[in-house]
Amino acid sequence: MTVLDAFDLTGKTAVITGGNTGLGEAFAKALVEAGAGVALAARTRERSEAVAEEIVASGGNAIAVDLDVTDPAQVDGMLEGVTERLGPVDILVNNAGLCYHGPAAEVPLEEWHDVFDVNVHGLWHCAQAVGRRMIQNGGGTIINIGSISAMIVNRPQWQPAYNASKAAVHQLTKSLAAEWAPHNVRVNALAPGYVKTAMSPVDEPQFRRHWIEDAPMQRYSTPEELGPSIVYLASDASSFMTGSILVVDGGYTLF
Ligand code: NDP
Repeated sequence: MTVLDAFDLTGKTAVITGGNTGLGEAFAKALVEAGAGVALAARTRERSEAVAEEIVASGGNAIAVDLDVTDPAQVDGMLEGVTERLGPVDILVNNAGLCYHGPAAEVPLEEWHDVFDVNVHGLWHCAQAVGRRMIQNGGGTIINIGSISAMIVNRPQWQPAYNASKAAVHQLTKSLAAEWAPHNVRVNALAPGYVKTAMSPVDEPQFRRHWIEDAPMQRYSTPEELGPSIVYLASDASSFMTGSILVVDGGYTLF
């Protein structure tokens, strides 16, 4: 066995919430390249199916599953469907997320609730349903997508609900990790810096100074650049790691 064998995910089944675009799509493709079969679980079926078809066309194993993470009944249905079609879930990537920009004094109540419904409550529904099953099955790995926004306050845009929601994700990660370690379920978080996706319009000039020029590496990441980090957290390569927050941010949180 070589060190690279520890990253092998052959025969594993992974669910990626929000796996149909941006970071989730890149995570799904990375897990497939490491050998896993993946379920892309999101609301926009056409996008999920298009990504699944692309993966299958390149020789991987992927299915599209309808899921709104805010609905616990849909989460249960997703778990049953994936288990039936791909086998028991070994890896859960809680990636679905939502962010609004706006000053705190003007945040509409429904935006506050939307952000917490997806980023915290949705993540909780998925972690609890899949975690329960992992405990019954003897183990698994859960990766929650947190953010540098749990650790710093982003500029120049204000996003109070998002920042608070990601801090909750980091602490929930530690809480579940402590409780489920005896059950062989590892729970870690990945905290990315700025990554070019629909959520982070990194090329817009008004963001350049604070998002790019202020960062030690003075650049943003592509979603694909974070793929290896997910494979690390999902696989035996990180077998002694639980309750950790893996910060991958080009040094952004150093200043
Ligand atoms: P995108 O906006 O590009 O993608 C968001 C994804 O979440 C989509 O696949 C969307 O699919 C899915 N989603 C949203 N709401 C729901 C829901 N209710 N149920 C199921 N799926 C949902 O975002 P990113 O790829 O940029 O972000 C992915 C994760 O990474 C998020 O958690 C984000 O907070 C985090 N992150 C991103 C950073 C960045 O710079 N981009 C930096 C740090 C963290 P659909 O609409 O079809 O449901």
